[in-house]
Amino acid sequence: MFRFFRQSPPIGIDLGTANTLIYVSGKGVVLDEPSVVAVNKKSGTLLEVGENAKRMIGKTPDTIETVRPVRDGVIAHKAATDLMMQTFMARGNSGRQTAPRMLVGVPCSITDVERHAVREAGIIASKEVHLIDETVAAAIGAGLPITEPVGSMIVDIGGGTTDVAILSLGSPVASESVRVAGDEITESIIRYMKRKYGLVIGESTAELVKVKIGSAHAKALNDDAHLDVSGYNTSTGLPESITVTALEVREAIHEPLQTIIDTIKRVLDIVPPELASDVHARGIVLAGGGALIPGISELIAEATGLFTVVADDPLHCVVNGCGEVLEHWNEFKHCLADFEG
Ligand code: ADP
Ligand code: MG
Repeated sequence: MFRFFRQSPPIGIDLGTANTLIYVSGKGVVLDEPSVVAVNKKSGTLLEVGENAKRMIGKTPDTIETVRPVRDGVIAHKAATDLMMQTFMARGNSGRQTAPRMLVGVPCSITDVERHAVREAGIIASKEVHLIDETVAAAIGAGLPITEPVGSMIVDIGGGTTDVAILSLGSPVASESVRVAGDEITESIIRYMKRKYGLVIGESTAELVKVKIGSAHAKALNDDAHLDVSGYNTSTGLPESITVTALEVREAIHEPLQTIIDTIKRVLDIVPPELASDVHARGIVLAGGGALIPGISELIAEATGLFTVVADDPLHCVVNGCGEVLEHWNEFKHCLADFEG
C-alpha cells in the first residue's frame, strides 16, 4: 500500500547572535527576526519572540526579562533558544517544526560541546542535522568561488563576533574569530556618551545612533549629520537630550573597528603565499550587519591596501549560502563542517 504525504523541504538556519534567519528550499528566506525572547521571570512563560521581544529591550518591568539566547555565535541559554527556535520554525515553516534535512551555520571557533548544543537545538527531531562553518556559508552566499583552488577572503561582521577567513577548496585555510562586532560597536557609543557628556543611553538608542549616523570613514558620511539622543544625566539623574554628530560617532566607534582591522591583518599574515597572492588579486568581501556601516569598506581597504567590497545583501549572506548548499547538495556537501569522507 502506498501512503502519500507531502515531504517537507530541507531547511537552512542562520542562528545569529543578533538575528535568526530561516531558508526553506524552494521558497527562499521565510523568516528574518531578531534573536530575542521575552519571558515572565517568575513563571518562565514565553511572552514574545523576535521583533516584538526586541522592542521590549530596556523597557521591561521587573516581572519581565528579555533574553538574547545566542551569545558570541553559540547557544548561551538552551531553554530560551529552544523556545525561540520552536516559535520561529512554526512561523516560517508553515506550522511545521521539523524538516527531513537541516543545515545550521556555526562559528568556525565552535567547540565540540557547543556543536552538540546546536545539533540538539537544531533542532527538533530532524533526521539529518548538518553544520556548516558560517564563513563558508557567508562566502557561498556572497557568490565567492569557494570550491575552487583559489583563495577567497570573507569578513563577517555580525552582532557578537567578527569572523575572518580565507577559504580555498571549500574550507577555511586561515581564520580567526574575535568577540568584537556590532554589539561592541554599539557599546562603544554608550561609553562615549557617558564619558563625554555624562549621558547614560540605552542599548536600543545607541544602536539607532549607530545605524542612522554611524560611519567608519570620512568619505562615507557628512560629518555634520546629527541626531538628538535622550538618556539620563549621571550627575543630576534627570532625563536629558543631546545632539550627537556623525563625526563624534566615528570617533566613538574607532576602537572596535581597529580591533577588526587587526584581526584581518593577523589572518593575512598566516596565509600561505599562493593564497595570499589570490587575496591580493581578488580582495576582501564583507558580510554581516556590520558591513552596512557606511565607509567600512574604505576603512578596511585603506588599512590593508586590498580592494574591499561589501557583499550584496550582507545580512542574508549566511542564510543564502545555506540555501545554495541545500539546492546544490552534491556540489557543496564536502564543504560542511561535519562532512565525513
Ligand atoms: P548575527 O549574525 O550575529 O546575528 P548580523 O549579521 O545579523 O549578526 O548583524 C547584526 C549586527 O549588525 C547588529 O549589531 C546590528 O546593529 C548591525 N547592523 C544592522 N544594520 C546595520 C546598519 N545599517 N548599520 C550598522 N550596523 C548595522
Ligand atoms: Mg551571522
